[in-house]
This record gives sequence, C-alpha cells and structure tokens, in this order.
Amino acid sequence: MKLSRSWLATAATVSGVCALEASYDYIIVGGGTAGSALATRLSLGLPQAKILLVEAGPSALDELRINVPGLRGSILGSGYDWNFTTVPQGSLGGRVIDVNRGKVLGGSSAMNYLCYDRASAPEYDAWRELGSPGWGWKTMIAAMTKSENFTGPEDGDRHGRRGPIRNYYNRVLYPIIRAWQPTVAALGINVNDGGSLSGAPVGVMFQPTNINVDKRTRSYAANSYLPLAGSNLEVLTNTQVTKVNLAKRGKKPSCATGVTLPNGTVIRASKEVILSAGSVQSPGLLELSGIGQSRVLQAAGITPHIDLPGVGENYQDHIRVSNTYRLKDGVESFDNLIFDNAGANATGEMQKWLTGERSLYEYTTAAYGFMNWGQLGVAGAMKAAAASVVQSTNVVDAKKLQYLNNAQVPSVEILYEANYVGAAGYTGGRFLTLISTVMQPFARGSVHINPSNPQGKPVIDPRFASNEYDIKGLVEAAKFSRRIAHTEPMRSAWEAETEPGEAVQTDAQWRTFATGALGSFYHPVGTCAMLPLKDGGVVDADLKVYGVANLRVVDNSIIPIIPSAHIQTAAYGIAEVAAEKIIAAHAGSSKSENACNCK
Ligand SMILES: Cc1cc2nc3c(=O)[nH]c(=O)nc-3n(C[C@H](O)[C@H](O)[C@H](O)COP(=O)(O)OP(=O)(O)OC[C@H]3O[C@@H](n4cnc5c(N)ncnc54)[C@H](O)[C@@H]3O)c2cc1C
Repeated sequence: MKLSRSWLATAATVSGVCALEASYDYIIVGGGTAGSALATRLSLGLPQAKILLVEAGPSALDELRINVPGLRGSILGSGYDWNFTTVPQGSLGGRVIDVNRGKVLGGSSAMNYLCYDRASAPEYDAWRELGSPGWGWKTMIAAMTKSENFTGPEDGDRHGRRGPIRNYYNRVLYPIIRAWQPTVAALGINVNDGGSLSGAPVGVMFQPTNINVDKRTRSYAANSYLPLAGSNLEVLTNTQVTKVNLAKRGKKPSCATGVTLPNGTVIRASKEVILSAGSVQSPGLLELSGIGQSRVLQAAGITPHIDLPGVGENYQDHIRVSNTYRLKDGVESFDNLIFDNAGANATGEMQKWLTGERSLYEYTTAAYGFMNWGQLGVAGAMKAAAASVVQSTNVVDAKKLQYLNNAQVPSVEILYEANYVGAAGYTGGRFLTLISTVMQPFARGSVHINPSNPQGKPVIDPRFASNEYDIKGLVEAAKFSRRIAHTEPMRSAWEAETEPGEAVQTDAQWRTFATGALGSFYHPVGTCAMLPLKDGGVVDADLKVYGVANLRVVDNSIIPIIPSAHIQTAAYGIAEVAAEKIIAAHAGSSKSENACNCK
C-alpha cells in the first residue's frame, strides 16, 4: 500500500473527462470502514490491477484519541469529524441532532465506540427475502468472521480468528459492571454470554470490543486492513471526490469512467468506480453525478442522467435515551478518566497505557442487553403501535412488522456504562448510565444534497420520533431501564436517579423526557438500499447502481433495513462480500478490457 498525494500537486487542472492525469483500474471513493477493507481485499485478490483509494480526511495512525480505547468519543466534534447535523426535527420541538461521521482514514471505524457485535440471523436473511439473491445470514456470517481476529478461549460463540480486525472480551471491567447479568436476570431475562454473536443475540451478556490485545490499541480499518494491502493499492488522503464521471453507452450516460476532484482534476477508472463514502455521503455523490431524483438534482442545478427515486431515501437510524444514576461514595466509575483527563488518576492511567502496563484506559463498553417487547411485558401495546404507523405498501415497514412476531429478533437494546452518558451534560461526580435504544424504529427519513450548496453539508432529515411506535418504544425501554436500576445488585450502587429523575412518573412525563433527550446512536443505513428498483432500491444484489454498468456502492448505505446491532461488523462483512464479487467478475479479464466498453 502506498500512501500518497504527491502526484496531485503536479497534476494540471482540467475540466473534461477526456483529459487524464492518472488512470487506475478501480477507484474506491471513501477510505472508511468498508472502503479500506474493500481496497485491501481487491489489491490482494487482483494483484495485476491498479487500485486507488481516495479519502477526504487525513491518515491519523498515531492519533492517541483514536488509538486509546478509553478515549473513545474524544474525536467527536473535532477535525476528524464531518460534524453534520439534522434539519430541525418537528417531533423533537425543532431540535437539531448531531450526525457524527469519521473524516479520517478508517472513517467511522476510527471514531466509533468499539462495540463489536452482530444482529439476529433473520435480519440478514431479510436482505435476501426483500429481493437480493445470495445475501443472508450464511453469507454475512462467513464474511463477518473473515474480517475478524478474536483472541480468547472457545466460548461456543461464532468468532473469526484469522481476519484483520482484532477483538476480545474487555479485560478491564469496573466492579459495578459485573452487576449487569445478575441484575437483569432477576427481571426474567435470559443470560446469553458466549452465544450472542451467532445470530441469536436476545438476552443479557458481555460482548467483545475491537481492541488489538497485543498493543492495547483500537483495531480499525486503517490500522488493521490497509497494512495488509499490496503495492498495487495507492491511497490518496485529504482528497475529496466531487463527482463520478459518466460516459454514454448507447444513448444514455450509463458507464462510470472515473472521478473528478475539487480542482477539476479527473482520475480515470478503466474498470469500476466504487462508492464507499458511507450512508450520509454515498447518496450525495450519486446526486452530484446526476443520479437520483430529478427534482433534487434540478433544484441543485445538476443535469439529471439517471432517474433513481430511491437515492437518499429510506434513511434509518437507531434512537436512544439515557437514564443516569449518581453512584454512592466508594463506588468506582470511569468518569474522571473522561471528564478530568488532566487529573492525577487520568494522567497516571494514561502513563500506564503509554508504557504498556494494564490501564483503565483499556475500558470500553462491555455489558449489553438485547430484548424483545415480550420480555419487557409490552408486546401487545407495541404491536398495536406498529400497526397504526406501518405503510402497507412499503416492504421495509412490512418486514419490521414481521420481526415483531419473531422472538429471535430484538426490538430494544439496553447498554450499561460505568460513567455518565446523559443528555443534560456532565456536572461532576460518578455515575452509571443505562442507554435504551429502539432497534427497528419505523421512521424512514432522507439525506440529499443541499440545493443552495450541493458540495456542502447535506440536508439530513431522519424524521426522528415522527411516529407513535418509535416514541412509545423509547418510553417503554427507558421505563424498563429504571426497573433494572431499581433491581439488586445494581440498586445498591447508586444514590439518586439524575436523568430523567424520579419526578418523571406518568406516560406524558416520560414522553416529554424522551423527546427532549433523544439522540442518534450513529447508525444511519439504507440510503442507497439494496432492494429491487420497484421498492426504492438504488443497488442490485451485486451492489451495482441501477442503470450504470460499472458503478457500485459498498458501505452501510446499502443495508435495506436497520439491524438490531452496532453495525461496524456489517460494514466489514459487506466489504468482504463485495470484494469476492468484484474479484470473481474480473479475475479473468484482460488489463485493457473496459468494464462496459464505453469511451
Ligand atoms: C460516533 C460513532 C460511534 C459508533 N459506535 C459504534 C460502535 O461502537 N460499534 C459499531 O459497530 N458501530 C458503531 N458506529 C457505526 C459504525 O462505525 C459505522 O456504521 C461504520 O463504521 C460505517 O462504515 P462505512 O464504511 O459505511 O462509512 P465510514 O466508515 O463513515 O466511511 C466513509 C468514508 O468516506 C469518506 N468520504 C466521504 N465523502 C467522501 C468524498 N466525497 N471523497 C472522499 N472521501 C469521502 C469519509 O471521510 C469516510 O472516511 C459508530 C459510528 C459513529 C459515528
């Protein structure tokens, strides 16, 4: 792998697709989670091919805020973050919600919270059932474990042990975290330790974290995949692609010939262009290239080439609220390592991390619960709420309705943290937090380019809590989190509920709390959905954009229906599957052969 931007400095500025400064077989746009994994696999599987990976952000392999697991969250709002926000959300009293995305080599895998898990098997099978042959649990578990390198004893679960992404079960746990299983089990929830990565996550458990156990660093796409790549991969950082260039094949511009950079430089791709810019920006790149809803393109002054109504639609994300509890004297937490990082404890622990000693800065999220509404005692009410909001003609809604009758599919996740993660803001002290998340909210929003500034920040409207199911789901999950907090042994650890606070008792009060505290769990998917064209699809089962012979999307935007999990494993899995498809399609083709015979 060559890290470079040198040739760009000498490249002449050009405006047409015929004037070429550089030429590759494959150009991958976005060196994030999926893009870096895909680039690595293509370079290994197609050793004769010349591959370019273009990333808007810098390489930051030595950045402690990325590498130190316990500093997770500290690059949010920094220069490594695109710092997007939603438009004012009507159901949240006009609040705007942060949409954080990694702008750095490794993308959001450099920024995420290192939760490493998978959804239930039926949810991956749904991709096939919704019209994409070849996809499903069998395909995705093979791909996800191919990307995984688990360290630890056999525990009966599904782990890959030879892939690039290192992970293990957190070896630093605060004593209060050990209260998790016994507390939640006392409410009748099954303990699922060592079984939740096998497609059946329902229960309460510890899950792995993507840390390289030898170095104690975050293991992510940039430091775990890319170093494996061959010298036929060139990586261009600090370079934002402005559009994909299309040429005519027959009467229509339906062949991708390369990409354009902000200074007009054109880079040619002889075989394929692949978008891996993530759920927020891959649809925007299609629109900037003339592919999408004609109305959106015309408003932005872009000539429509391919009318594809699904581009940027079907935006789905997990929504969450936090219950926070101030701990009793003497109960340890992680708070001062986050909020007082110049203090003696934090500097001492950082010194240990830097010198290779076991350090509290290895601590990351460990304790999870994935539950269905039946386990929370509200199955009937939630089904009724779903029935009232579902659009019968939408295949994604219909599938989510089916999930509600399948006890294997979780509807809610509750995360347990040994520190403050509330919405009101940290004001000092030690806390435990229970984060409640709705796994398949029915809100489907959109992301489109901004008509008044198409290359600027996109217009993101997730339509958070815009329906009864989503808001009721948050309320019921947060109420259950309070029940958990009031159950022993957890109950003995805290002295006061600070959010929402015991004054919140009635359903109306819970709703006010939930709409005021709701945040994104950073999991947008679905905006370039892998679905049949008639159902709003943007890519087919080979991840090819409808109407363009050699343009694919390979990232989490292709996931048609939001899974009940943290979704980095899906991004790696999608990249692994895509690499196999592209390698199989081109392994036998000659060097000069163009993917779609266009000029
Ligand atoms: C704060 C946060 C916490 C999270 N926590 C977890 C977690 O704990 N566990 C988990 O499983 N998941 C988590 N996620 C989600 C998960 O990390 C992402 O869903 C996943 O990494 C997305 O992968 P991707 O390849 O689709 O996109 P990304 O990894 O975001 O990659 C997109 C890349 O494209 C680049 N790019 C965009 N536009 C252009 C352009 N025009 N030209 C060139 N480059 C461009 C971006 O800079 C970026 O590097 C979290 C996400 C965030 C943001």
